[in-house]
Amino acid sequence: MKVLVVGGGGREHALAWKCAQESRVTRVFVAPGNAGTALEAKVQNVDIAADDLAALVAFAAAERIDLTIIGPEGPLVAGIVDRFTDAGLACFGPTRAAARLEGSKAYTKKFLRRHRIPTASHATFTRANFDAAHVRAQRLPLVVKADGLAAGKGVVICETHDEALAACERMLGGAFGTAGETIVVEEFLAGEEVSFIVIANDQDVLPLATSQDHKRRDDGDRGPNTGGMGAYSPAPIVTPELHARIMSEVIAPTLAGLRADGTPYTGFLYAGLMIAPDGTPNVLEFNCRFGDPETQPILMRLEADLPALCEAALHGRLGGSEAGWDRRAAVGVVMAAGGYPEAFGKGEPIAGLEDAARLPGKVFHAATKREGDSIVTNGGRVLCAVGLGETVAAARVQAYDLVAAIHWNLVQYRRDIGHRAIARENLAGDAAEDF
Ligand code: AMP
Repeated sequence: MKVLVVGGGGREHALAWKCAQESRVTRVFVAPGNAGTALEAKVQNVDIAADDLAALVAFAAAERIDLTIIGPEGPLVAGIVDRFTDAGLACFGPTRAAARLEGSKAYTKKFLRRHRIPTASHATFTRANFDAAHVRAQRLPLVVKADGLAAGKGVVICETHDEALAACERMLGGAFGTAGETIVVEEFLAGEEVSFIVIANDQDVLPLATSQDHKRRDDGDRGPNTGGMGAYSPAPIVTPELHARIMSEVIAPTLAGLRADGTPYTGFLYAGLMIAPDGTPNVLEFNCRFGDPETQPILMRLEADLPALCEAALHGRLGGSEAGWDRRAAVGVVMAAGGYPEAFGKGEPIAGLEDAARLPGKVFHAATKREGDSIVTNGGRVLCAVGLGETVAAARVQAYDLVAAIHWNLVQYRRDIGHRAIARENLAGDAAEDF
């Protein structure tokens, strides 16, 4: 069996690594991949950009690829699954119409409201109907979002009305191009964030292991928002009761709503949730693909054959499938270029990768490339070091041992990934001792 993974980040390295573990998979191509995917057994990079849909279809047809898995949202929102399907090729992901759930926040807010799925209250504006008085009348803090894809940077949490109005002006003024022509101004929700990811096929659904990520750049969940500085799985906040609420109040009505709207959903569906103090799972956003960096720790724990799960979904046989999870916890720490998420340098040689490869755990590459004999940085989030352990605390030790083995000029990473889960573990430990 030949698999093609589209994308070149840490998520795609993890997807390719996982697919290559199956003995019936003879080859995994990654387009365009990175220096890490190139090093994996059975894995080969292909020099085609993830948004070059025509070239990807042509490659998959010529190579007789049996299954294509799409990593990033860009090609999904652009309709890559429709293009592959039209060409008679199996491609795992939502159609262009279903991927609007990630491609337009204004559409998604309307969808959530229509199907009575819990979410923050909001208003949608364009330049033509922008109402500054309405913004000024809202309670603080306020969240301002660009409607379209903005690489995780189109969300601003504003502490004052002046800040909120400035953020609206910036977006409507073109700071995110067409993605900001429509904006959503949303109520700020307090609580704890959870990533809930499922494999879906119309209304059949297989929930994946729970996870939590750390969006802010700095320790203590401070500093600017990023694409994600680390993640861990499982997320102890997701008790069986909360799991059941998320399935019945968010996932089931979302898939039923998509079907009722004529856009049934196949693919990974990622719900970014804010769990309110009363346990209500409010939807912050949907992603139409696997999360990055959640994919890395989740796939470290997945025991099932991933290509088989994707094929089962594509052929309507998902019901009855089981994932199977390593009961150990996994913690992934993102190592980023200095300056990220603002301006950062590229081309820094990375030292210590071979030493890290001899340690337990796994280093997934994100923005890396080979230059002669060395591997150099090639973007903001460069690597994700994942450790496994009996507890989140033990997994974190393994992850940071990997991090300590690796270095480059101006590397930055958080030192507290998993802190909330570890605080919960400590509380549970104290309670057990009291007992
Ligand atoms: P989004 O891309 O919509 O998930 O937003 C990115 C991040 O901004 C989220 O992961 C949250 O940390 C934060 N965020 C978004 N919307 C809200 C909200 N209504 N209340 C509080 N935080 C939010």
